[in-house]
Amino acid sequence: MNIAVLPGDGIGKEIVAETLRVLGRLGLRFEFEEAPVGGAGYEESGHPLPEKTLALAQRADAILFGAVGAPRYDTLESAKRPEQAILGLRKELGLFANLRPVQVYAELADASSLRPEVVAGLDILIVRELTGDIYFGQPKGIRQHDSGGREGFDTMRYTEAEIRRIAKVGFEAARKRGKKVCSVDKANVLETSRLWREVMTAEGKKHPDVELSHMYVDNCAMQLVRDPRQFDVIVTGNMFGDILSDEASMLTGSIGMLPSASLDANSKGLYEPIHGSAPDIAGRGVANPLATILSAALMLRHSLGQPAAALRLEAAVKNTLRDGYRTVDIYTAGVGTKCRRVSTAEMASAVAERL
Ligand code: NAD
Repeated sequence: MNIAVLPGDGIGKEIVAETLRVLGRLGLRFEFEEAPVGGAGYEESGHPLPEKTLALAQRADAILFGAVGAPRYDTLESAKRPEQAILGLRKELGLFANLRPVQVYAELADASSLRPEVVAGLDILIVRELTGDIYFGQPKGIRQHDSGGREGFDTMRYTEAEIRRIAKVGFEAARKRGKKVCSVDKANVLETSRLWREVMTAEGKKHPDVELSHMYVDNCAMQLVRDPRQFDVIVTGNMFGDILSDEASMLTGSIGMLPSASLDANSKGLYEPIHGSAPDIAGRGVANPLATILSAALMLRHSLGQPAAALRLEAAVKNTLRDGYRTVDIYTAGVGTKCRRVSTAEMASAVAERL
């Protein structure tokens, strides 16, 4: 199992190093090869996604990614900014399916901004299409308008094939979980969404064991904070998914807990925490490594054919939380109980011990 390790910048380096240490405890044979990306890539080669990093990502079985970005790169022209690396990897590797599990651990229900009884036991999977939609549709631009001023315009578009392949990912995932798919669109207004709904419905007929429902995106945004536990798998396009998945992530209380997978058509994937490089806490050894460790569990399941190891890793994380280990971002959840505040390395060690 060849894994391209791209730690990136800021806390990316700390959380990825700890995750590799935890993976080492699984008793499996991994080949890790590391390369610079983001600001680190720019420092080394003048480009956030150096050629050798892309080549490594292309030949690896899976990619473990930390985070990119730092304030000192904010003034660079857009093509050289660290964040371009992740967009480049998605595009070059055809990573069209973004999976974001949103789970609330019982021990952390107090950390949510919603009442614990609304979120306790929450377990949603958001499947977001990642390489199409209004972010990539042509034409786009800013041009002179007849009325005198300028106008900005983007094009929302999806082909049937693009919708079908993300639908399949959603239905297959639902089969292994609660067997419900909620397809989210704006079919009351958008032509793209009308086609989306048609294709989702046709694909639903091929998966009769999965219950399919449709919801408008504005309603979904509301339902996610009203009664999030009604959902099992949410399947949606790039822009709606971008917004809804960030909204859903906050139901869990901390951005430091949430993993993600971005997959191509053959289940090769890039695995990363959903948070960024957190320059405000970088280098202090206090970042929560659990989102990255849970991303590694997704990697074991989706790209490396090791579902049992994925379950072991996830169980070890659960048990670590049960035993009261808390990094600073989730510490408030445990005030007054047996919880203790730990560093990045101590948290990872606790997971490794429980493995
Ligand atoms: P961020 O996610 O880095 O941080 C937001 C807040 O959450 C900060 O207060 C941070 O300390 C905290 N936080 C994040 N991860 C944490 C963890 N594991 N443990 C504890 N606390 C954690 O978002 P930001 O501050 O908006 O962005 C910082 C940089 O990261 C920017 O350069 C941005 O472009 C970049 N970014 C990169 C990615 C990526 O690499 N995929 C994603 C988002 C943002």
